[in-house]
Amino acid sequence: MNASPNDQKKLLDVADLDARLRQAERRRTHPPQAARIAELGAERATRSQELSAATGARDDVKTELQRLESDVSMAEARRDRNAERLAASSNAKDAQALEAELVSLGRRLSELEDAELIVMERLEQADADVDAARALLDQLADEGTALSAASVVAVADAATLIEALQRDRAALALALPAELVALYDKLSTRGVGAALLQRKACQGCNMELSGTDLQQIRQASNDAVVQCPECSCILVRTEESGL
Ligand SMILES: [Zn+2]
Repeated sequence: MNASPNDQKKLLDVADLDARLRQAERRRTHPPQAARIAELGAERATRSQELSAATGARDDVKTELQRLESDVSMAEARRDRNAERLAASSNAKDAQALEAELVSLGRRLSELEDAELIVMERLEQADADVDAARALLDQLADEGTALSAASVVAVADAATLIEALQRDRAALALALPAELVALYDKLSTRGVGAALLQRKACQGCNMELSGTDLQQIRQASNDAVVQCPECSCILVRTEESGL
């Protein structure tokens, strides 16, 4: 196949646009935020479990406190009843027994109230743990919302860029011989369609051409379309080719 050296050089611009199109397509289907968004999903699942665990632990402490409070009320009611009975009692023996029970009830109440204080402190800590777990989860949700919004913008930007690149490529390809573009397109479905021959090496596959291959290329006419013996891409020759 023959094509003017100028048209062949323009294939490098087509190849460059194609490379940029592939990059933009990759950004459209895999926006940079996607990895972190996926990570956040897993992290949120873990943190949700932690929140459930913290809430469960807090509820247990609450139940414990309620039990203590009810024990305190019962002991207080009993103490008040005994005190009334003591005030009304005229029997010395009964009075002695009631007094002894009042002393023991007083001790029991004091123990219960001490225990109540300790459990109240634990409840405060358990509440703080629940709040911290919830705050962490909220923070992850906020990060996820922001990233999703940024991802939507990135995808839209990539789509806009793709449209512009496709327009440029179509215009460029239209100005070139159809046969040359067809060969390029066929080659580029398998790899690089066209690359510069630079300092005796194909820039498509980075292989240096052998002396024999270079000799053949030197002998070819300027408008002959030559291909890389290694990767088959169209080799574009310029003054940088080292021929
Ligand atoms: Zn090559």
